[in-house]
Amino acid sequence: MVDISMRLKFSRYRVDREPHIRVNYANCRTCKQRACLTACPAQCYLPRQEDGVVFNYEACLECGTCYIVCDRGALAWEYPKGGYGVSFRFA
Ligand code: SF4
Repeated sequence: MVDISMRLKFSRYRVDREPHIRVNYANCRTCKQRACLTACPAQCYLPRQEDGVVFNYEACLECGTCYIVCDRGALAWEYPKGGYGVSFRFA
């Protein structure tokens, strides 16, 4: 089994002030499954106690999984602008 934490040690991030993923929280709060919580390998989504999620884009791996699993259409997703985002295998 792949240890993702070991692999993430070699990732570097250049974070843009503008998030490349935006969450429509009104749609998000109607979701009971919250698949993004378990699907995101970087744990960018954390549960709010009552409903919905808290999202932090800074550690995003740009895999697109959250966009695929969100059946509420709550995400506007695009890659970060040029020069921003994650760099893999940066050793
Ligand atoms: Fe997490 Fe991947 Fe979505 Fe980024 S694109 S927030 S790493 S699931």
